[in-house]
Amino acid sequence: MLVLLAVAAIVQAATTTEVRPVQAQAAARAAHTPVGASFRAQQPSEPSTATLSRPGVPTMPAEVVPTGRSPVRVPILMYHYIRVNPDPGDRLGFNLSVTPADFRLQMDWLYDNDYHPVDFDDLRAYLFENQSLPSRPVVLTFDDGYRDMYTTAFPILRVHQFKGVSYVVSGFLNSPNYLTTEMVQEMEALGIQIGAHTVSHADLTRISAASLHSEVFDSKAALEAVVGHAVLDFCYPSGKFNDAVISAVQAAGFLTATTTQPGVAHSAGDRFTWSRVRVSGGESLEELITDLGEPEPAVKETPANAPAPRGLRWKVTFPLQLPLPTPEEGSPVEGLIP
Ligand SMILES: [Zn+2]
Repeated sequence: MLVLLAVAAIVQAATTTEVRPVQAQAAARAAHTPVGASFRAQQPSEPSTATLSRPGVPTMPAEVVPTGRSPVRVPILMYHYIRVNPDPGDRLGFNLSVTPADFRLQMDWLYDNDYHPVDFDDLRAYLFENQSLPSRPVVLTFDDGYRDMYTTAFPILRVHQFKGVSYVVSGFLNSPNYLTTEMVQEMEALGIQIGAHTVSHADLTRISAASLHSEVFDSKAALEAVVGHAVLDFCYPSGKFNDAVISAVQAAGFLTATTTQPGVAHSAGDRFTWSRVRVSGGESLEELITDLGEPEPAVKETPANAPAPRGLRWKVTFPLQLPLPTPEEGSPVEGLIP
């Protein structure tokens, strides 16, 4: 009964607004019971010594993905709404809506199976700066900047001290059902990286050159004004891109961009067309596990491959010089345009 009440509280958090994370987190913690027990290696627990070995806190995991692998398998999960779809007749809305209960189950499974959510700072550091990654790295991305990212997803991520990435549409900030400036700032201070997702969620392949420039450059500037530092990661609305779009994203100073193309392996050379793993509403945990694929093999951490110590947020400073793709890697664009 307690579980049902707790789940109901989370669901309510998704369908109402302005539920503070601490309240939803309490509900989420209360709901931390062996749902889907067959997938658990162990009974979940409150954040403990195991939690303290997560990335972003002082101690480091015992196993790492050593530097130098390219491509490296780091599934980038793609979420949209974390809510109960309010309109049963809205098929698209249903597909884009992972329920709070399912999301909690997925995060618990990742935690129990030793996955370590990292952000794009970490992935860039691995590919460009010879840093290692924690074992079983995964990136959790949330598109569009819906308010339930803050009211529902964020408290659940906090239970496990998971990092995440919020791709915000800058022109939708502070609109009903979207994140507010304050929400973005609060999440960003607590481990949620902010990426850009244009000003108006336009199809970038079907607008004028001037509009393309504005959608890409202005969204970057607007979000940087909110978070107070460089925003370096971009996401193409609806996964739509072409050569001109990639050029604009590069010219604006973004260092990575994600698509909706399926895949889990990434390299520096294809950093402007990174694939993702779509997590759809109603899909089973087994489907998600299948989509994650074989994890990148990890090795015991040694002083030589230990991740560089850094805090929860690892700030990138300008100017940041990236290595050019090697001839073997080819152009970042070549062969990747549909
Ligand atoms: Zn979007």
